[in-house]
Amino acid sequence: MAAQPSARFAYADVRYWSSGFLEQLASAGILQVGTAETVVCDGCGQGCEEIVTYVDTEPGGRPSAFVVCRGRDDIGRVSVPLAHLRTWTLRPEGLATWLARELHTRQEACPIVPQTLWRLGTTRFGNRYAHVFLLAGIDMLESSAVLQSLVQAQDGTSVLVLVPNEDLSAVATVEAVRYLGLATVLRADARGLSLDREALVHKLGKGRPRSTGKVIPFEAPGLNVWERLTIEFRDDETVVVMGGGRQEPLTFVEMGFGDGRSKHPRPDSLWRLLRQLACANGLLDWDRLGMVGVDQRLAPRRFSDLRKRLKAFFPGIAGEPIKPYSPKRGYETAFVARVSDEYLRRLLSQSDRAAR
Ligand SMILES: [Zn+2]
Repeated sequence: MAAQPSARFAYADVRYWSSGFLEQLASAGILQVGTAETVVCDGCGQGCEEIVTYVDTEPGGRPSAFVVCRGRDDIGRVSVPLAHLRTWTLRPEGLATWLARELHTRQEACPIVPQTLWRLGTTRFGNRYAHVFLLAGIDMLESSAVLQSLVQAQDGTSVLVLVPNEDLSAVATVEAVRYLGLATVLRADARGLSLDREALVHKLGKGRPRSTGKVIPFEAPGLNVWERLTIEFRDDETVVVMGGGRQEPLTFVEMGFGDGRSKHPRPDSLWRLLRQLACANGLLDWDRLGMVGVDQRLAPRRFSDLRKRLKAFFPGIAGEPIKPYSPKRGYETAFVARVSDEYLRRLLSQSDRAAR
């Protein structure tokens, strides 16, 4: 859905979905039901795609449909059950309208970037307000520019963007904007489709920077080896953690790296070590350690502490986040440690200025 302006599902795509779910989406206006113009023929086993002929007016009979197989010349007409010819086309504007209603924003969903970004309105979550948007289209760059300007003009209200997929690798994300996958907040049950407000409040609450010292461990299905985890620094105090289909911006406080001795928490020395690892793409050899000011006699202890800290934050992952020290390579992370391009540019321009 993020890759194309309108996603269309055919029978083959949704045959194992529960039929009730499709009907709920259709009656909510999110999916539009239609009929296929072409279908893969069942007759020849060669997978030929043929144009469907609909027969609506057979006297005394029921409507029917068939294709003429061109894959083999001994097949001819192959009838196709009408149920196999239904299509469901995603209507992003239908999704936006439905979401705005479910969020009780008392505003109509309004397109900001055509076919891509909708403003759903402002709503209250617990004790705070958020401007909520739906991002579901192709013009990601323009959308990011719009969101950026909203954040810059912010009035203390947070900006929440609902996205179809929590894997944001295709999205130019904007700092200080919360992105939330729809799958984590949509519920479908016997009563119909609904929005899980509690999950929304919980997700929003977690984004509050430095709210509490409480650390919520990061877990995701399938995230059980360090190699599947990426920690990317966005600035001195914030990372984006990616793995197991989850992606979450987190501050050092949220990850348990706050210096507990001060009233206004500052990143502790282990956070700085993690940041230095990220700046060096996950590998610190002896020369680099000296350059970043790590006392070599203390290095084993500090890396051991960092291993413990990371294992506590990612309890679902077995093994060691930092590989055993190797005299040849130095200290190397098992996960991907890096800095964002923007942060790297900032760091480089800072060091340029310092050198001048
Ligand atoms: Zn055929």
